[in-house]
Amino acid sequence: MSYLHQLEPGQAVDLAQMPTQGKRLYDGDKETAVAEFEALREELIELQNRFYAEGKRKLLIVFQAMDAGGKDGAIRSILRGVNPQGVRVYPFKVPSKEDLDHDFLWRIHKVVPGKGMIGVFNRSHYEDVLVVRVHNIVPEAVWRPRYEQINQFEKLLTDTGTTILKFYLHISADEQKKRFQARLDDPSKHWKFAVEDIEKRKFWDDYMAAYEEMLARCTTPWSPWRVIPADQKWYRDLAITRDIVTTLNQLNPQYPPPADDLSQVVIN
Ligand code: ATP
Ligand code: MG
Repeated sequence: MSYLHQLEPGQAVDLAQMPTQGKRLYDGDKETAVAEFEALREELIELQNRFYAEGKRKLLIVFQAMDAGGKDGAIRSILRGVNPQGVRVYPFKVPSKEDLDHDFLWRIHKVVPGKGMIGVFNRSHYEDVLVVRVHNIVPEAVWRPRYEQINQFEKLLTDTGTTILKFYLHISADEQKKRFQARLDDPSKHWKFAVEDIEKRKFWDDYMAAYEEMLARCTTPWSPWRVIPADQKWYRDLAITRDIVTTLNQLNPQYPPPADDLSQVVIN
């Protein structure tokens, strides 16, 4: 199975030209997609079980998106039913004073997955070339070298047994507006709404420019980005799960042999 949404190193990225609607790329209807997704999810549960049992390699899944882009929803639906013992989800918020006393990768490196583990980043080190760039939190002379620093950091991780899957959930400005409105209309979603989100929306074009540059610069042979059409949640979940399952199948994790000879064991 090929990776439909994976970028190639050196590829120029023009997000306005890239689909936010998956339905145009999918032959079946929503119902077929949901059935396919459910089957893949079962496969993911089995693969993760083997990956954890093998305990040798590591998988890091990175999610980036605009506000209301669906990171939380994707994580919730895709990982449903996976053994929680083998998965750690890290949401990265505004860095603490202690984080800021260190280099920007310090807080990230501490929580990369260990052997047999799947680590999921809800936001990531990429915030340091996105929100930080758009809002001039540090000068360009500080953020610009970070593309290369990130590439080298990810090289270290992949050289030492980590597979990295990076997903940018691509939504349209219209879809973000709809989702913000839905959050405003539903009191149970108010906790997800920050007035700051409206402020950030005014910088949409600047964010798109920042995303385009980081997608292009940080798509390396060892760690390419994937741009997932994310206006339709059913397509988003299917496309992401497909890539995770394909990757895990390629890694082909094996249950380890028993530590002891079990052939003579009798249980009284
Ligand atoms: P939701 O999408 O559900 O609102 P969220 O990921 O936006 O979840 P919040 O607590 O609302 O979570 O926001 C986290 C904020 O932290 C984001 O605005 C993000 O841009 C910011 N942030 C994350 N990393 C950094 C960073 N390195 N420097 C500055 N801000 C950061
Ligand atoms: Mg938020």
